[in-house]
Amino acid sequence: MNQLSDRINNLSTSATLAMAAKARELRAEGKDIIGLSLGEPDFNTPDFVKEAAIKAVDDNYNSYTPVDGYVELKDAIITKFKRDNGLDYSRSQIVVSTGAKQALFNIASVMLNDGDEVILPCPYWVSYADIVKLNGGVPVEVKTAISNDFKMTADQLRAAITPKTKMIWYSSPCNPSGSVYSKDELRAIADVLQDFPNIHVVSDEIYEHINFIGGHHSMAQFDDMYDRTITVNGVSKAFAMTGWRIGYIGAPEWIARACNKMQGQVTSGANCIAQRAVIAALEADPSEIQYMIDEFKERRQLILGLLDDIEGFKTNEPEGAFYVFPNVSSYFGKTIKGKTINNATDMSLFLLEEALVATVTGEAFGNPDCIRISYAASQEQIIEAVKRIKEALS
Ligand code: PMP
Ligand code: GLU
Repeated sequence: MNQLSDRINNLSTSATLAMAAKARELRAEGKDIIGLSLGEPDFNTPDFVKEAAIKAVDDNYNSYTPVDGYVELKDAIITKFKRDNGLDYSRSQIVVSTGAKQALFNIASVMLNDGDEVILPCPYWVSYADIVKLNGGVPVEVKTAISNDFKMTADQLRAAITPKTKMIWYSSPCNPSGSVYSKDELRAIADVLQDFPNIHVVSDEIYEHINFIGGHHSMAQFDDMYDRTITVNGVSKAFAMTGWRIGYIGAPEWIARACNKMQGQVTSGANCIAQRAVIAALEADPSEIQYMIDEFKERRQLILGLLDDIEGFKTNEPEGAFYVFPNVSSYFGKTIKGKTINNATDMSLFLLEEALVATVTGEAFGNPDCIRISYAASQEQIIEAVKRIKEALS
């Protein structure tokens, strides 16, 4: 008998992490898998950040930290928000968490009552829907079109709002589509929200620096949105620090205080050494990490060019992050190498088994016509992976 809670029984496994685990398993069996499933930079954490961590160990930073983060880290975050985003936050508006993932979980748990609706422009990052559901909320998917670079329009937003709408969550640059909302596009969304003063916005900006077109815009930059926007960010992507697990928010004080209270009962403060290291990361000029962005930009051009050659893959040009999100629906219903591909999950499994390339099904991101390919891998791996995909499908 299944004695687990309904809560866990109704939860999906994170598709990104599941695919990474599957790839690891196959590799252990001796299969030469190219992993393009996980959204994880393949660079090392920059030396100046590592040195700050080593110093923190030597300086005996080993005690519990304040639940919402060291004051010095909060100050570095405040400086970063001002420097990069023109946003003014005070210490009482900042909460440091164990990754942006925990920050998002905190937000859902302090904001949602059972039945509250959260609008998610689709495709959305894999964990949004489950974090919302886990906290009693109801995800409301707004389908976006590849012809509009997978961005939600103001009209689509208006049509999705109901009396139960509590929040909107989106990422820009977007995981998985790589789309970047322009200032005008955000303004159009903000204009709709003027008619609905109780709706709050989560602006997930964790890919802020991995932007190939310049011009990152935050919802909270609009004076009329500042008081109801929670800006989420972290160091996993820009500083190649996924395993260090530090994320943070800038939020209205009452929300930050609630997140602090929630975190105090769940995990306490984030890891002490990682927090000290992140002070160095955030205090550094963003030019220190430009070499990684430049490399991602080259890889994007490389993979877009290579994918162009694969019949039936329709891809938009991502403006940020490190993913491409091709529509593969032209293969649905076809049988290749004795395997019938009926949906994106079948395609992703087919590529894993026949091309030995790990991708993630778009179903996990709310779009069942696409697959996500991460190009946070070396150029050689990208070339080899696309060659294998092409061969397997031909
Ligand atoms: N938001 C988005 C859009 C992401 O892609 C991720 C995954 N890295 C996260 C949040 C969570 O990041 P982390 O917990 O590593 O800070
Ligand atoms: N966010 C990354 C991804 O989308 C890392 C995996 C995860 O946290 O789900 O692949």
